[in-house]
Amino acid sequence: MSAEADPRSVADRLRAVRAHIAEAATAAGRAPADVRLIAVSKTHPVALIEAAAAAGQRAFGENTVQEALAKIPAFAGRGLEWHFIGHLQSNKARFLPGNFHWWHSLDALSLARRVARLAHAQAATLDALIEVNVSGDPRKHGIAPDALPALLEELLREPLPGLRLRGLMTVGPHPAGEAERRAAFARLRGLRDDARARFGLADFDELSMGMSGDYVEAIREGATLVRIGSAIFGERDYSG
Ligand SMILES: *Cc1c(COP(=O)(O)O)cnc(C)c1O
Repeated sequence: MSAEADPRSVADRLRAVRAHIAEAATAAGRAPADVRLIAVSKTHPVALIEAAAAAGQRAFGENTVQEALAKIPAFAGRGLEWHFIGHLQSNKARFLPGNFHWWHSLDALSLARRVARLAHAQAATLDALIEVNVSGDPRKHGIAPDALPALLEELLREPLPGLRLRGLMTVGPHPAGEAERRAAFARLRGLRDDARARFGLADFDELSMGMSGDYVEAIREGATLVRIGSAIFGERDYSG
């Protein structure tokens, strides 16, 4: 465990991040409560999630099913909300319902149908966001912006009883200057607004965008869900 990763500093960092979120929301003329913080706990141990939960944090994000399944049971019955933010392999789809409440990375029709079917079979419903690769970065997941209307059309062609389509998600461009980041986030907002209007989707109101390095810009451009890891838990140590 790194020197930064102690429970007290998690509570302090969480407080600072919440204050920054509120400040950014207010500066943008938005209500701080309209921006929800997802604490991205990937690579960090249960003890630090516990520290964040003790400091009042409810929503947590993980990006691999395997890692998440090793942690989520430790918090059973605690009322935490789990967000799957990584790329979903189809052979792991069955683990989403029952463990996660939100799926941020819907990017294929077949996968959406499979998750919906599995969720419905468990009498679960997942809130889903379509991941869009706004910056066109080939290393990123998500559909191209131009592909969104066709995907939505397919998704809406038949009922998906285990899924609620709630909005869009993106990972901001990196490295990029402030103007470029804001433009990418504004683009996602525009795509959501167009999709809502075109398909008459009343609940398609969420924008999952903004990470430790760019959440202030994302909030200025309308983020409703910010996914923040290292600013709360410290740097990730991938070596072990
Ligand atoms: C890791 C990750 C985050 C959080 O990143 P930080 O820079 O640590 O805040 C957000 N979103 C996704 C999809 C991630 O994989």
